[in-house]
Amino acid sequence: TQILHIIGGGMAGSEAAWQAAHRGIKVVIHEMRPTVGTFAHQTGLLGEMVCSNSFRSDDDEQNAVGLLHWEMRAANGLIMQTADKHRLPAGGALAVDRDPFAQSVTDALLAHPNITVEYGEITELPRDGHWIIATGPLTSSALGQAIAAETGADALAFFDAIAPIVYHDSIDMSQAWMQSRYDKGETEEERTAYLNCPMDKAQYEGFIDALLAADKTEFHAGETAGYFDGCLPIEVMAERGRETLRFGPMKPVGLTNPHQPQIKPYAVVQLRRDNKLGTLYNIVGFQTKMKYGAQTDVFKRIPGLKNASFARLGGIHRNTFLNSPTLLDAQMRLRSRPNIRFAGQITGVEGYVESAAMGLLAGRMAVAEIMGHSLPAPPHTTAMGALITHITGGAEAKTFQPMNVNFGLFPPVEGLKSGRRGRKDRYKAYTDRAKADWTGWLGGSALDAA
Ligand code: FAD
Repeated sequence: TQILHIIGGGMAGSEAAWQAAHRGIKVVIHEMRPTVGTFAHQTGLLGEMVCSNSFRSDDDEQNAVGLLHWEMRAANGLIMQTADKHRLPAGGALAVDRDPFAQSVTDALLAHPNITVEYGEITELPRDGHWIIATGPLTSSALGQAIAAETGADALAFFDAIAPIVYHDSIDMSQAWMQSRYDKGETEEERTAYLNCPMDKAQYEGFIDALLAADKTEFHAGETAGYFDGCLPIEVMAERGRETLRFGPMKPVGLTNPHQPQIKPYAVVQLRRDNKLGTLYNIVGFQTKMKYGAQTDVFKRIPGLKNASFARLGGIHRNTFLNSPTLLDAQMRLRSRPNIRFAGQITGVEGYVESAAMGLLAGRMAVAEIMGHSLPAPPHTTAMGALITHITGGAEAKTFQPMNVNFGLFPPVEGLKSGRRGRKDRYKAYTDRAKADWTGWLGGSALDAA
């Protein structure tokens, strides 16, 4: 019999193991805890939630992560099943009692006749056999080095410096305009690659005041080592001098505002396209440790972003992840070593649910391969499909940063009103379409038919 080896028994590894074992495949989970720990994990349990106890919104009609819950439940997902069992009252969110949750995940995996758990750190990339690496944002440094040696150091990041991402249709284009600095570029597309938001002096000064006054989060002990060189948080730049940003990411040079061509902007905030669909834009150089509430308050002061909706807010933290769009194929296999799949946060998704979701897919794809066929990725129109499409090719590789599931990753539903007013109908249409397509994909997959 062929064995599936999974490194890491977190959100993704646990789900991958469950999916494979359930289909008769023998699985070995290699988990380093409790022998070797991380700065965030507290126990030796599988499926431990490292921070908040929430799987976020459970609304499967208006929210993309709620839709992902729905899809995982429909696919017999262990993480969702267990979360439902240990649910705590939390309004529309799916919050769980964390210790019993992780204990149940552990018990279910240990009790499964097809699963064994071997405790200990894996430090090398496996040469042969079927493997899934699901070692998460806090992958041990020995294994991280081994991955970097295989992929090239540039293709493996150890920190997230996440710039906030805005939905394009929530930006006020009567204030903003498209232009690359000095109109640089060979094609019209390149010459208009950036979206610019201008500030006058009073707006800039007010913005700096708001930045300095905003609530910030602290780094964890041991989290910052060697990081500060390349990507300072904007509030730290502002602390170094009120003009620093105006000479850094907000410099107003090489740009002409077509709405007011006679007035030279005092500062300019630039946004850059974040996905091929053009539905998402990131604010260039705006990584930040501001708390989420403070971020929305501060960023909405930017002209053109007054009514912005954010697909994700900014952040900076320890996070090991691959440049998946260049390194992984559509089956989540490492192109240079196709016997190894990656799953979970290390593939460049962000969050418990997204990580478990990529574990679910990787587990099923590995099973298909071991059984001698291949499982096509789910349609782009599903939450699962939107995520895997993003990480394996939909995202811009050069600016690739971990991503939460959100409707900006879905192909638009034609014929619906855009903008704020049409949002409710649009989201319902996305989720209806996704559920039908996910059900079709599950039913059509040879895995369950077999
Ligand atoms: P993990 O759940 O971390 O699982 C990886 C497993 O691999 C771990 O058990 C680890 O011990 C093991 N491992 C690592 N290296 C090796 C090795 N060499 N050999 C063997 N085993 C190894 N997401 C949210 O949705 N909400 C939050 O509030 C949240 N807070 C976070 C706070 C912090 C500090 C961090 C770092 C991340 C946070 N995240 C949060 C993101 C969250 O970690 C991930 O989304 C999720 O746990 C990732 O799932 P995973 O399976 O990819 O990794």
